[in-house]
Amino acid sequence: MKHQDIIIPNAPAWRLRRARVPQSLLATAIPGAPPDQDGDCLLDLAIADGRVAEIVPAQASAAPAENDIDLEGRMVWPTLVDMHTHLDKGEVIPRVRANGTIREGSLKNGEDHARWTREDITRRMRFGLRCAYVQGVSAIRTHLDYRGPRAAESWEVFDAMREEWRGRIDLQAVGLAVMDLYSTPAGEAYAALIAEHGGVLGGVTDVLARDSASPGAVMDQWLDRFFELAGRHNLDVDFHADQTSDPSLFFLPNIARAVLRTGFSGRVVVGHCVNLALQTDEVAKRTLDLCVEARLAFVTLPTPMMYLQERQPGRTPRWRGVTLAHEIRAAGLPLAIAGDNCRDSWYAYGDHDMVDTFRQGVRIFQLDHPVAETPAMVGPIPASIIGVSGIGSLAVGAEARLILFRARNLNEVLSRPQSDRIVLDRGRRIEEPLPDYTELD
Ligand SMILES: [Zn+2]
Repeated sequence: MKHQDIIIPNAPAWRLRRARVPQSLLATAIPGAPPDQDGDCLLDLAIADGRVAEIVPAQASAAPAENDIDLEGRMVWPTLVDMHTHLDKGEVIPRVRANGTIREGSLKNGEDHARWTREDITRRMRFGLRCAYVQGVSAIRTHLDYRGPRAAESWEVFDAMREEWRGRIDLQAVGLAVMDLYSTPAGEAYAALIAEHGGVLGGVTDVLARDSASPGAVMDQWLDRFFELAGRHNLDVDFHADQTSDPSLFFLPNIARAVLRTGFSGRVVVGHCVNLALQTDEVAKRTLDLCVEARLAFVTLPTPMMYLQERQPGRTPRWRGVTLAHEIRAAGLPLAIAGDNCRDSWYAYGDHDMVDTFRQGVRIFQLDHPVAETPAMVGPIPASIIGVSGIGSLAVGAEARLILFRARNLNEVLSRPQSDRIVLDRGRRIEEPLPDYTELD
């Protein structure tokens, strides 16, 4: 059966036959279905009542039953996890016009806050969630900007969205503020607000200038305060760390040491960490050893970082602006790839499409040859880091949230945009199209 002819049966039970699944997206190995030289397994999947009822080696000889769909070896993936987004600030172009530098990203985003009413945030968040859902994303962690006295409004809108999307997209939120805030009464109140809404405590380390007196010592004090607040409210934490190209503003070791010093027992995520790539090999190695000891989890956001870093008018950037993906993985640390900003002052593009983010991530980091293990970076690895279960890997008993590709292998996935993918939510095809940009006018 050709990909374009697939009709998902309106029946309680049916089968996808001869589905090719990357082994790195399977929750457990399937006996009798060893991976081929590309790391993929040829499988039959039984779907019953919206769940994956059975995963077995493809039965070449069995006669097809009435509701069988023969995929002829085309790829099936679980739907994916985007563990770092900014749904509250996205989809603001063209009302926001920035020049692509970090400085303007911050400035124009701050100015745009004045336009953020409940209705405005709701409309843009919903637009972003629809983009993600239609394209096969089932779990999202978004950061929410700290907006001073209006901080609660963002969380109330987020709570409403989490309810609206329950069952379709599993939503988490991180309260995003610069590190110095948490050493003030306002920061203390913000941590309490985040706890009230079941969120994650978020901190941005890029707040000190190079000429600050002993930036490391100041950061250490802020980190102690931050982890004390997180511990008090029983919150996990998620950092925007080291996004500058200034190697002297390098706080990843301070974060790891603070975790060890305070004995913090929650989950710690470090995002970005781009200036790790500007350290000497020796410093990088020592830092990653410390990160292993502190059990940090990493997320890289390569598309906005390549866009923002080292941007100067009339000058071609000389470095890629991204972190040490290979070295982080080689150290045995979990590393996820995520989408980050979409159509805002920090990043002018993006569509909450994790297949696209995966394709770009593989190319930017040269995570190929072999590429077999990399799909895990947008599925099981982020799911495990943010603690969502039943999403991002293919497992018996899990809800049938699947992406059916026309591509037969990872090379074909990486070579075309896959805009003809079929996405299933609990065994049903998602028929709605991508939202139209006119809806944001
Ligand atoms: Zn971010």
